[in-house]
Amino acid sequence: MRYVDRAKLIKPVGWNQRAQAAAQHVAAGGDPNDRSAVWRELKDGLADLLHDKCWFCESPVDRSDNAVDHFRPKNSVSDAENPHSGYRWLAFDDSNFRYACTYCNSRRKDQTNGTAGGKADRFPLVNEILRVYAAGAVAAEVPLLLDPCELGDWRLLGCHQENGQPCATSADPIAKRRADASIEIYHLHYEPTCKRRHAAAVQLMADVDEGKRLFDLAAQDQTREHDFKAVAARLRRAIDRDSPYSGDMHFLLRGQRSDAHPWIQELLEA
Ligand SMILES: [Zn+2]
Repeated sequence: MRYVDRAKLIKPVGWNQRAQAAAQHVAAGGDPNDRSAVWRELKDGLADLLHDKCWFCESPVDRSDNAVDHFRPKNSVSDAENPHSGYRWLAFDDSNFRYACTYCNSRRKDQTNGTAGGKADRFPLVNEILRVYAAGAVAAEVPLLLDPCELGDWRLLGCHQENGQPCATSADPIAKRRADASIEIYHLHYEPTCKRRHAAAVQLMADVDEGKRLFDLAAQDQTREHDFKAVAARLRRAIDRDSPYSGDMHFLLRGQRSDAHPWIQELLEA
């Protein structure tokens, strides 16, 4: 996961008016899905904000997919303690849109590997008592799901370098609970995703070892400086926002910092 700045979203001309009309249709009792063309209009703009990657798992997403996710579900909320007919009043509010792959967005079982996940109508809260049921402000709710549009949330997720399985990065009980729920509900432990994440991790760790070796060599022999810089640039690319699983790679690289290798900290800040 990486932070996505929603303020950078570019909308088609007249979108706000069309969204307002659709919201009125829903307020009058209409089904949000009748006007799905309105949120689909933003699909390309949302995709642009994270280089065509899913905002939750950072896998590349085909734009033809049904990729606009309503962070607060629009039709029903299966985690609500009382019957909830969805955050219908946010169905056309672009602050509620996220860009997601099918595995993160739709409920499915991976029979081969025994995992299940996919967000669908899931939206648990840290404190269920604060759940909002009727049209109005939702700021009092604290989502249990990590949100790519909240500044610090992406740093609460990482992965194991040995197998690419996702993990919580913080020992804080609420942060850990939020990461664990996100792994399950976004299906971040979907086996094919873990395999791709693992391949990226193997490459990263090989480059870290090579970078450390060349850094030490360059300290003795300046002619090796060029070789070191080439590896450092490759590592910088792996943690760049446009690379697959860059948040996970950022986490793994953070774990490699040491006094002997200050260049790693410099890469993280670059
Ligand atoms: Zn995804």
